[in-house]
Order: sequence, then C-alpha cells, then structure tokens
Amino acid sequence: MRKKIVAANWKMNLTLAQGEKLVNELLQAGIALDAHKEVVIAVPFPYLITVKELLKGHKGFYVAAQNVAAEKAGAFTGEVNAEMLHSIHTDYVIIGHSERRELFHESNATLAKKMDLALSHGLKPIFCCGEPLDVRKAETQNAFVAKQLEESLFHLSPDQLKHVVVAYEPIWAIGTGLTASAAQAQDMHAFIRKQVAGRYGEAVANDLTILYGGSVKAANATEIFAGADVDGGLVGGASLVAAEFAAIAKAI
Ligand code: PGA
Repeated sequence: MRKKIVAANWKMNLTLAQGEKLVNELLQAGIALDAHKEVVIAVPFPYLITVKELLKGHKGFYVAAQNVAAEKAGAFTGEVNAEMLHSIHTDYVIIGHSERRELFHESNATLAKKMDLALSHGLKPIFCCGEPLDVRKAETQNAFVAKQLEESLFHLSPDQLKHVVVAYEPIWAIGTGLTASAAQAQDMHAFIRKQVAGRYGEAVANDLTILYGGSVKAANATEIFAGADVDGGLVGGASLVAAEFAAIAKAI
C-alpha cells in the first residue's frame, strides 16, 4: 500500500514565532495519521531544528527542507548541504520546485546531483516536476514532464527510487488560484506512473507516492485527491493557515 502525504510548503513566509504557533495549531487539529498517511512540513532552514523538536512524539508528522545544495561541502557561501540537513534530523527535502528552477536557474542536471546527495545522506526527496503554461497550451506537457523525470530521476537505482516522492506541479497553477482540473491532475499522475513503470517495473511504480501541487485548498482537495493516482498534495499558500491546511490533510 503506497503512502499518502499532504505536504506544506511555507516558502519564504512566517517568522519563527508564527511558524511555531502554526505547527502547534496543526498538532491540535485532530489530523489522524498512521504508517501510510503522513503530514510533511517544509520550513525555512533556520526553523528546521525547532519544528523537528515540536513534532517529536507526534506520529506521522515530518519536517522537510525546501532546498539543498548541489555540492557536497566546501566554499559555497550561503549554501546548506545534505549532510547538514541529515545531521539535524531533517526527514524530507523538496528538490526542483519550479520557483528554484525558474528564479534560481536550476537545471535538470543540477537537480540530478541534488537527488544523489540527498539520497546518499538519508533524506527523502520530494521531487517536483511540471510544465509551464505555454507547454500546456501546446499540449506537449507529457513530453516535457517525461524529460524532467528522465534527466533528474531515472539514473537512480530501484532501491533509491523507493525513498523518493514525486510532486506534479503545473507551473500555471502555482500561486495563481488556477488549479488543474481533477481529470488533468489524474491524467498526468497516471502518465508519470506509467513512465516510472517503464523504467523500473510495475511494482516500484505502484509504490511511488505522487502528490499534486498548485492552488490546493480545503475546497478542492477532496476532488483532486480522489484521482486513483493522486496520493496527496504539496500545498503552498493554503498551508499558512492552520484550519485550512488541517482540512486538506484530513482529505487524504
Ligand atoms: P500553491 O503552491 O499551493 O500556493 O499554489 C504550491 C507549491 O508551490 O508548492
């Protein structure tokens, strides 16, 4: 049985005090989790230790970094490497978010390096893929996403892939209020799973958790998560409000 996950991506928002308050509210919101249902909270680097501490003893809650360096260690001022994240017990790391790809020019090859470093240090990557609006309009989104998977993911061994979560985030739906329809999300998730099956076989593909991201909110979560290949969500804006995010988490 594959895992269902609802992940919060705070991005560059909230002070530490605001973040602590939000986490405490979530912990008291009655979200029922188990070995197959998780909530992951991706916070800014300086909050990782504190949030990890707050989540201690709360079954099914995990902490994530929003990025990791593509280099091992050394003279890279301002960067944070996978070993550091592991040393403070970070569970997951988002890799290849479209904002990193676009604003910080991260290429598929760079992301492949980040995947390797994260996995070799015991971090579970949430690998983001997804097409921009012009690609969707040209109806070439499948080829676009297939290339992202091939160039950043498909060099991994089957054993490594077991620790990876994929997040499909159509760029035109992120922070725009536009969501992919439940059918558009399901179609792409099925396509991603098929690509993974082609490379790694059905069993590995069936175990892969694939999240949808892009303007997920309490009002649309149930419909989106109903897709057979949609195993949860990666939530930006709506993850900053406890009641809203808790409702989304309860929808998986
Ligand atoms: P959004 O962001 O939910 O605000 O659209 C999702 C994401 O960027 O992960």
